[in-house]
Amino acid sequence: MTVFAEPSPTATALLLLGRGSDADSERGVDCPGDLPAPSDPDLVARATAAKEALGERLFILGHHYQRDEVIQFADVTGDSFKLARDAAARPGAEFIVFCGVHFMAESADILTTPEQRVILPDLAAGCSMADMAVLSQVEQAWELFEAEGIADQVVPVTYMNSSAAIKGFVGRHGGVVCTSSNAKRALTWAFEQGQKVLFLPDQHLGRNTAVLEMGFTLDDCVLYDPHKRDGGLTSDQLAGARMILWRGHCSVHGRFSLDCVNEVRERIPGVNVLVHPECRHEVVTAADYVGSTEYIIRTVEAAPAGSAWAIGTELNLVRRLANRHPDKTVSFLDRTVCYCSTMNRIDLPHLVWALEELVAGRVPNVITVDPQTAHYARVALDQMLALPAQ
Ligand code: SF4
Repeated sequence: MTVFAEPSPTATALLLLGRGSDADSERGVDCPGDLPAPSDPDLVARATAAKEALGERLFILGHHYQRDEVIQFADVTGDSFKLARDAAARPGAEFIVFCGVHFMAESADILTTPEQRVILPDLAAGCSMADMAVLSQVEQAWELFEAEGIADQVVPVTYMNSSAAIKGFVGRHGGVVCTSSNAKRALTWAFEQGQKVLFLPDQHLGRNTAVLEMGFTLDDCVLYDPHKRDGGLTSDQLAGARMILWRGHCSVHGRFSLDCVNEVRERIPGVNVLVHPECRHEVVTAADYVGSTEYIIRTVEAAPAGSAWAIGTELNLVRRLANRHPDKTVSFLDRTVCYCSTMNRIDLPHLVWALEELVAGRVPNVITVDPQTAHYARVALDQMLALPAQ
């Protein structure tokens, strides 16, 4: 049996794991009522009891990057889009408790019935990538495209990891949502509708898909920086670009470097490097396999016993894969810990708190999307569902 080699902890990671403290880090977290202490030995029993009391009224969704202590209570696990669809397939569940981050709960709210309530156990569970594209910034970019006379050539495509407001913008402008599994299909469709694509908010997924899967060159891509005047681009650059990439990235996957790949190949001879397409272009280019979270899980499951894998994605998932497949060597691609800090906000105390509030007849932390935004976001999501197979 191969033992998972834990990467070295950093001060921030210890904090996330509840083994350090920083009063400032809890600023802005609002949990009315009593949040149980992480040291409470009855947390598992309390969560179990609350779940049983709520029965069929409750449906708990757990994203793959969630902690084990939370995942054990999930009725289904998956990536963000699968979970939103799973929620939509359970119209009888009154309360959808989403153990994930804010944009995922918004998508679940859009896809479920008005009677269902979507609850995020900790409102501080956002996503740094989604926060990198704000509606007012995207509207400003579109005004620039109009002023440059290219707006009618541009089709907006947004990654699932974006706010409902951005999905609504994309739906209003004839675009589509994509996931890391169908980004190529979404881009192929978008280039049939127009000559250029504005890809939001993850530059890496956009670049990796366009260059590695669709035959575009790096010169076909330009980077729009919302913090610079005119996005930091000249009229010629905008006129010549096919892919206008938004300057956003995932703070977890963006950490993996080419050095990590080279170092693991030296350390583990014959290792297969498997990474998520949110990783940087040079990392994805140097890897052996690239794919979505679901692809990563399937690949490790199908791998022969005795094979070695270094995986570039969130640590909770990599550790779970290592524990589930002791006949294979599963390692984390980086030497140091790399959790998604916002995903880790959802811990057992917050889950227990949310469930016990529901048992008490109070509905905490409801995530709602306003009807107009929801309508146009749904247009862009439905367009994704209608993408032709490839
Ligand atoms: S892993 Fe990255 S994209 Fe996913 S929630 Fe965390 S910051 Fe956002």
